[in-house]
Parts: sequence; structure tokens; C-alpha cells
Amino acid sequence: MDPISLAKWWEGEGDAVRCLLCPRTCLIEEGKLGFCLVRKNIGGSLFSTNYGIVSVSTIDNIEKKPIFHFLPGSKLYSVGSFGCNLRCLYCQNYPLVEGGFEAAPYRRLRPEDLVSEAISRGADGIAWTFNEPIVWSEYVIETSRLARKEGLYCMLNTNGYINDSPRDELLEVMDAIKVDIKGFSNRFYSEVCRGSLDPVLGTCKAASEKGIHLEVAYPVVRGRNDSPGEIDRFCKWVRFNLGPETPVHFIMVHSYHRFAGHPETSLEDLQKIRLLGIQSGLNHVYVGGTTKGPAQNTYCPVCGELLISRSGDSDAEKVYFRDQQVSRFCPSHSAVRVMLCGRSCPRCGRIVNIKTKI
Ligand code: SF4
Repeated sequence: MDPISLAKWWEGEGDAVRCLLCPRTCLIEEGKLGFCLVRKNIGGSLFSTNYGIVSVSTIDNIEKKPIFHFLPGSKLYSVGSFGCNLRCLYCQNYPLVEGGFEAAPYRRLRPEDLVSEAISRGADGIAWTFNEPIVWSEYVIETSRLARKEGLYCMLNTNGYINDSPRDELLEVMDAIKVDIKGFSNRFYSEVCRGSLDPVLGTCKAASEKGIHLEVAYPVVRGRNDSPGEIDRFCKWVRFNLGPETPVHFIMVHSYHRFAGHPETSLEDLQKIRLLGIQSGLNHVYVGGTTKGPAQNTYCPVCGELLISRSGDSDAEKVYFRDQQVSRFCPSHSAVRVMLCGRSCPRCGRIVNIKTKI
């Protein structure tokens, strides 16, 4: 199988091509790659050079993504490729983003091979994760379509930085999506991630309007995106645009990659930020990057009954790429216990936004 595939979402401009997949809209000269390092102009056409290329794959719990309100405790076949359309200074998977892949270890899998592999490993679904799946969209869409026909569900772990038309095609084949909102200002996006905020918010709204299960993560970078004002603006935006039942995860950002030496977010910082979220009217606010503390559990927003308990570090397989552990700061839970009555609280009957079956 030829791993290079003609890309979708582009147009020619003389000898160059304009990629229309994400808001960067790179103008790519003959023989060159776009910013994501995986879309290439060959002979005046745009190609997806990472089509069918799998860098890492593993089985883990959906809680690791983190997704807490969709098929709790279910098993995902988590797969990734190469490339990203942002450059977060603290990226925990940068070898998959910045390294290029010509000399890297990887496997080539046709969509049907990947689906068979997921089934044979006992997965309930496929997670597109590790690198940014948006820059792998052609393969992700084709494989997800096939996977859903075979009874697997599909989830996207994404930065949400995509243009409207490809976004709608991608969402059409997804059952669940977790979007990182990396800060609540264009300044933060520009200085720390080399992107912008509005397209990300657009992806969240589109997923919500289409009825796809959505959870939002906010990686907290100490001193950069954690002021009470910024957190309050973020929480209110979620509440009024996505609804108060949307699960929100405040994630610990570690001193890593280009942020090595930057002060780390502490558990205490996250607990305070979580309280701000609850005070702003969000019903399900969690703390991520750890499996410790009561902020891992789901409680009824009306009577406080424990609905889902999550505890303990799982012994999930550690995944390495070029001697670096990928997703190294995403722990998962070994025990997930669901105490719902259908979709309702067993004590007061309040319906909660949790899907226990598709
Ligand atoms: S997907 Fe890649 S090539 Fe296309 S516009 Fe975005 S960064 Fe540029």
C-alpha cells in the first residue's frame, strides 16, 4: 500500500497549493510541507503523507483521555500518527509532532487492518489521539466509518483547530470528542501554542449542536492562563454556550519540553480552580493529570449522591516512542464503578448527562 494519499481540502495557486484543512491555510510550495509537517505539495497537488501511518497504539480506559461521561470504564484502542497544527511549548508528545517521521519507527495499516486489530484486542472503540488527529483527517474519517460499521465507537482527542467544512466531515463519524481549550485569550494561544482561540470554540459549539458527546479540558499553565478572571470567562463561556452539564477537566501541566523549568501547576491550584468552575455554575468539574482526590468522582448536582467512583492508578501499558514515554502525564483509573439508575441519580432521580450505552 502506498502510504501517501491525495489530500482533501486544498486548492491550487499557481505551482503552490493552499491547504484548507485548518485555520493556518498554509501556502505550500512544490516539494515542501505545511506547518504540520505531514501535508506535502508534490507536483502541484497536496498529499497526506501520514495516511495509514501509525506511530503508537495501545489499549486503555476511556477515562485516560479524559472522558468521564461516555461509556465509563470502556476500553479504547488508542492510536496516533505524526504531526500537529499547533506548537504548544509544554507538549508532552512533541517527538510525534516535531521529529519528522522518515527515519522513525512506524507501521503502515490499511483502515480495515486497524479496525481488525482493534477488535482482536478487545476494544469497545477507537480513540484518535497522541498526535493531533486533525492533520490525519483523511485516514481518521475513512477508518472511523468502517469501525462504526463493525460496532466500535469512535472518539477524537483534539485541539479543535480546524476549518468548518472538514470539521463537519470529521464530526459526522465521531461518537465522542474531547477538545482542549488551551487558554481563554488569543494572546495565550499565540504566545504558547501558535494558534488562535475562536476556531477551537467553533469546534466545541459544532460538536454540541450536532449532539456528539463532548467534554472539554483546560490545561492549566501556572502564571499564564490561570488568573481567576480568565478561568471565570472560560467557565461562563462553557456554561452559556455548551451547557452546565458539559464535563470540564482542569489538567495539571508539567514542567516539560520548552517549558522545562517553568513552575508546575499544583494539586492545590487545581482544587481552587475547580471551585471557581463550580461557583460559575458548571455541574461536573474534574481535576486531571492525577487520579487522586474526590475531584475524580461524579456526584449528582442536585442531591450530592455519588454516581460514579473512579480510583487508583491503572497499570495501563506505558507507550514509548524514540525512547520517550508518550502521554506521560495522563494517568488512568484502575477501578470505575457506576451507580446510576439508567441515566438518573438513584437517590433523587435527576437525569445526568452520562451515556452508559450508545
Ligand atoms: S493542516 Fe497542516 S498544511 Fe494544512 S493548513 Fe493546517 S498546518 Fe497547514
